[in-house]
Amino acid sequence: MKLFPALGLLPSCALALDALSVAFSSKESSDLYEVIRRNTDIDYGCRPVILRSNNEHKLHAIVSSERLETLRRSLDPNVRVDLVHSLNKRQEEGTAPIGKGDRFKGGKVAPRGLGSRKPGEKVDLGGILNYEEVYTAMKGLAKEYGMETFTAPHLTFENQTTIGGVANKAEKIKKDKQYIYFTSGIHARERGGPDNLIYFISDLYYANKHRTGLTYGNKTYTNSQVKKVLSAGIVFMPMTNPDGVRHDQQNSNLWRKNRNPASATPGSELSVGVDLNRNFDFLWNYTKHFDPSVEPASNDPESEAFYGTAPFSEPETRNMAWVYDVFPKIRWFIDVHSAAGTLLYSWGDDTNQAFDPKQNLFNAEYDGKRGPVNDTIYQEYIDQDDWRNVALQANRTTAAMISVGGREYVPQQAVGLYPTSGASDDYSFSRWHKNKKVNKVYGYTMEFGYPTNFYPTEDEFYQNILDTNAGFMEFILTATEIGLKD
Ligand SMILES: [Zn+2]
Repeated sequence: MKLFPALGLLPSCALALDALSVAFSSKESSDLYEVIRRNTDIDYGCRPVILRSNNEHKLHAIVSSERLETLRRSLDPNVRVDLVHSLNKRQEEGTAPIGKGDRFKGGKVAPRGLGSRKPGEKVDLGGILNYEEVYTAMKGLAKEYGMETFTAPHLTFENQTTIGGVANKAEKIKKDKQYIYFTSGIHARERGGPDNLIYFISDLYYANKHRTGLTYGNKTYTNSQVKKVLSAGIVFMPMTNPDGVRHDQQNSNLWRKNRNPASATPGSELSVGVDLNRNFDFLWNYTKHFDPSVEPASNDPESEAFYGTAPFSEPETRNMAWVYDVFPKIRWFIDVHSAAGTLLYSWGDDTNQAFDPKQNLFNAEYDGKRGPVNDTIYQEYIDQDDWRNVALQANRTTAAMISVGGREYVPQQAVGLYPTSGASDDYSFSRWHKNKKVNKVYGYTMEFGYPTNFYPTEDEFYQNILDTNAGFMEFILTATEIGLKD
């Protein structure tokens, strides 16, 4: 595969990072809201997430050492900022390596997941899948189990293809019989995302073929549950941002965006790329739709949340949306991210309400008013039944992830304390609200891993697979129970 065909820009060694993982703490979550509001340039991960811990609220972020010093001087006295660890140091001391070579031998060998092993068996996975292995793993699944694969229509800036698979029990895949859609790898640095999906699908096929169940830590599923899950029809794209993933794996520089340089300033490496999870057609033009006091994305190319030049300006987001045209009956969607330990459900632009349908994202009367979560000037309308369904699903899925036995997961409304525009989960749910002829999709963001640990340790990497895979099982089982169709 050719690197950087157009530019030849690739730095040959890892960039020196000055990246500190920090946690802001306060008794009142409103204090942390103020931190975000006054420091919108900070890297809060996929989106700012507030987690409760003992009697405090916590907000995690990544800052430079210089920035940490200025923050310490400028923070409100109610807010504390603590250093969690240096990400550089953490990397040196042992995060999971990127696997070398091709474990799937060009597709001759199929990947095997963790849930189909003997209970308690510890498997050496050989590190995180390198970006080329994501393609060969998919070929391996196609060869071993007859899984159908597809190539999304839009090439990336660096001319890479984006590959997907359709996992189903049926021998012949019907496009209007697939109800589940999973994606990962949109934020390049969130290592292990593609692995979580590929090993999960591998488990389903293996257990189906060998008539066994699946075991994830303390959580077990029967063979008939495996068959039920596979029959729901799973469309998945394990690496939606291949240019970004390649760049992150080759440089270990916590790269998040894609590699499109269209808006970049010469000499500024940070200004390359678009945050794909701010580029979807959902209230994309945030300066028009949101209250000026919030910044749900950024129009600064140097920002980690740079939203691009137009909704769907990027081939990667167009590929993700194209799947809905090809598989029109998809009802349940998860975009897999890290690192927080949450499962987020709709909406992400403002607090949910079920009493006033006029307060909705398409109503221009509310332009300039959306976003602040503690006011009642605008709250996003969600039908009562939809709200119940999406919250029930999030509760069930996180409960299964917790019962694996590794750690806690929290179900949350996506807006949390701070809004987001242009995200994949909101776009997915909003499609039906815009056009009642398309299928209604319940969209989620799963955040595996510990806050800001985008590069997991080997143990975390392993546990993330167990946790997410139990979560995917439960998600699909709950989906079949709530309903795959109208
Ligand atoms: Zn993310």
